[in-house]
Amino acid sequence: MVKFLDLAAQYQTIQQEIDTAIRDVIAKSAFIGGEYVNQFEQDFAGYSQVEHCIGVANGTDAIEIAIEALNLPQGSEIIVPANSFIASSEAVTRQGHKVVFADCDPQSYVISIEDSKKRITPKTKAIIAVHLYGHPCDMDALQTLADQHGLYIIEDCAQSHGAEYKGKRIGSIGDIATFSFYPGKNLGAYGDGGAITTNNAELARKSRMIANHGRIAKYDHEFEGRNSRLDGLQAAILSVKLKYLPEWTRKRIAVADYYLAHLKDIQKITLPVRQDWAKQVYHLFVIRTEQRDDLAKFLGDKGIQTGVHYPLSLPKLKAYDYINQASEDLFANKTDTMLLSLPIGEHLNEEDLGQVVAAIKEYFA
Ligand SMILES: *Cc1c(COP(=O)(O)O)cnc(C)c1O
Repeated sequence: MVKFLDLAAQYQTIQQEIDTAIRDVIAKSAFIGGEYVNQFEQDFAGYSQVEHCIGVANGTDAIEIAIEALNLPQGSEIIVPANSFIASSEAVTRQGHKVVFADCDPQSYVISIEDSKKRITPKTKAIIAVHLYGHPCDMDALQTLADQHGLYIIEDCAQSHGAEYKGKRIGSIGDIATFSFYPGKNLGAYGDGGAITTNNAELARKSRMIANHGRIAKYDHEFEGRNSRLDGLQAAILSVKLKYLPEWTRKRIAVADYYLAHLKDIQKITLPVRQDWAKQVYHLFVIRTEQRDDLAKFLGDKGIQTGVHYPLSLPKLKAYDYINQASEDLFANKTDTMLLSLPIGEHLNEEDLGQVVAAIKEYFA
């Protein structure tokens, strides 16, 4: 059995520290706000090399709150990559703005700069740079585009904790950035969690207030906000896990390097390309093949779990029928039937990897 994800195995390696952290939070009743949340916000800002970090309830809220903090005119257009999780686009609509999908790059799968350019109109106010699968977007090119057209850049870092663009941590580059700590992410809580990071003090303050009923102090509500907070238990767990993230990331990269080296001669699969400016943290290792469903079944029968991210491009979802981009000639629209995510993570050992590679070779032999 080669598992796609093994959170129980990960817990066993850090069980004592996690159990102690949970007991401490309960003993101090530090459930909402308080020292553990403050500590994690500080830890994660340090890790992400960014000035401000605001814990929120989940990664989807983080995007919504980040967009709200930018205070764009209602009905603004925001460019979102056509291949992502729906949270990236959902947040746009829920803030009263209009989603415009741009295509993805066929090598690294992140948003295509060329196609984004074509989508810009006078109403465009922002681009959501999703560092998909752990691969950073081309931030210099995006910044040039943003400067030319007066756009904000929102980084969606839900899949890319610790990734770097030209040596800079993602989450510290755009105007504002969002993270998810959903359990299966590279840094995952034991429940829902998320964060916003930014170097802009005003956006940080605004975000923190939106996430906490429009206030900083207890009953000092400057405007109507909402309740979206990272809780103390999750924060304490995340602070423990953050210490191990560099090691887990190294292991993910080693797994990817193994796949890249051992699968490179198979003609019928296309491997992901790591751009030379990218530290790619491989939240997912996604290959492309016309025999996707059949290969997935073959691997499944051998006890090797795989995933599909995502089975439908965002424009093809029923939710986006109204946008009418499903039949556009996009790479993302044509290749969603070909994407297959191989097992990746610190839980895999050499024997597991050998099994995955051998099975894929057998399939294509
Ligand atoms: C997981 C994910 C989100 C949403 O995070 P939640 O914490 O589950 O709300 C947003 N964007 C992307 C790209 C994701 O993968």
